[in-house]
Amino acid sequence: MTHRIAVLPGDGIGPEIVEQAVRVLGALDLDLEFTQAPVGGAAYAQHGHPLPPATLELARGASAVLFGAVGDWKYDSLDRALRPEQAVLGLRKALGLFANLRPAVLYPELANASSLKPEVVSGLDILIVRELTGDIYFGHPRGVRVVEDGPFKGVRQGFDTMHYAETEVRRIAHVAFQAARKRQGRLCSVDKANVLETSQFWRDIMIDVAHEYPDVTLSHMYVDNAAMQLVRDPKAFDVIVTGNLFGDILSDEAAMLTGSIGMLPSASLNASSQGLYEPCHGSAPDIAGQGLANPLATILSGAMMLRYSLAAPDQAARIEAAVQSVLADGLRTPDIHEAGTTRVSTSDMGDAVLKALN
Ligand code: NAD
Repeated sequence: MTHRIAVLPGDGIGPEIVEQAVRVLGALDLDLEFTQAPVGGAAYAQHGHPLPPATLELARGASAVLFGAVGDWKYDSLDRALRPEQAVLGLRKALGLFANLRPAVLYPELANASSLKPEVVSGLDILIVRELTGDIYFGHPRGVRVVEDGPFKGVRQGFDTMHYAETEVRRIAHVAFQAARKRQGRLCSVDKANVLETSQFWRDIMIDVAHEYPDVTLSHMYVDNAAMQLVRDPKAFDVIVTGNLFGDILSDEAAMLTGSIGMLPSASLNASSQGLYEPCHGSAPDIAGQGLANPLATILSGAMMLRYSLAAPDQAARIEAAVQSVLADGLRTPDIHEAGTTRVSTSDMGDAVLKALN
């Protein structure tokens, strides 16, 4: 079976890192058909829009999207609707990508890159599952109004609305339970059920869905405690599931535990396992075009694509093992380079992963 992959390199370092990921994916025993299209600033420059109709159609018709990064300071003065970053939001909306999966893995070889003590983070392997399309970010009503009574009567007030529909909580719960089932079987649902009605509702649904996954152990944690535990004892977690707002913050915190942004992949999935796969970092215009970018986050995003959209977990594991092996061999792009290791370029790193695959 041929899998069609939409390749959207984007801006800055996007093209360099995506090129390496495509080389690695193309070397596997799979029938993959790659088609490239512009997105972000590159698409604005060519077609006047960060997400042109042809790019969107390509993404819609693909099994998965491999995305580099978008954004460049030179586009900061454009109208918000035309800025490169809008392409990501447009793709999420058009493809219905409601589940964001971000593993935070710290390879023992990179333990010194973290700002935490090596013994706290070495061997860290957690997965954060964040709901991506609901919560206070999209709730209505929202805006600015004048307070009609009470101590702030007559004063202007900003307000937003937090809500989650049962279907939204159930579908993210299933994604998280299924992910936990493929790992150590431990799922921690993070909420603020001691204060928020929406969170108590979220917790009740999680408990209900848990009945369908007797092999997964569900626990609950308030978000303030979760933020503390992530820096105190992050290895105690396996999979974390949480809403859009809490997930936004906790997934960045978890990413920073590893200290190396160039290593972190991500997946955003819809109900039919179609997904968009991208590194967690941005387009890094400061180092673009110089062979300095670390392509491993994008290569590992390719591995996630194999696992979550193409049902090829063995091939995913091959890529992950190859990455582990190049790190064990001491190869490092400048962002993770330290004394005693060998500094390599973006394409050298791609070459090394390809070699290790075989
Ligand atoms: P950034 O992630 O691009 O860069 C932050 C720092 O990390 C920079 O010093 C950069 O050189 C370094 N870095 C990032 N990725 C790296 C890699 N693979 N290898 C080595 N070093 C790497 O964040 P920023 O500088 O705040 O943003 C730059 C642009 O990226 C902005 O236009 C921003 O809007 C955009 N952005 C896009 C996405 C996305 O496409 N999903 C996400 C975040 C930021």
